[in-house]
Amino acid sequence: MKAVKHLVEITTNASKGCEECDSVLSGVENFAGAVNHYLQVHGYRLIHLGSQTSHDYQGNPWQSTIAVLGTDKAPKRKKKKGG
Ligand SMILES: [Zn+2]
Repeated sequence: MKAVKHLVEITTNASKGCEECDSVLSGVENFAGAVNHYLQVHGYRLIHLGSQTSHDYQGNPWQSTIAVLGTDKAPKRKKKKGG
């Protein structure tokens, strides 16, 4: 098994664009679709799938699902510096 060079996280409580292309992935609206995008389009593999419990601003617990995907290829897009 090759070493994983790059990891991405997808959660059901955050939306962000694909790190490999310009596709907009919404973990909130389509978690499975976002995971499948990395698996099928970019050849990532599933490293971890689980749930995590957080608390909202009122202290109420709520659960979200998190998927961690990895690839043995370096990402095509360089990370932007700054910020
Ligand atoms: Zn993509």
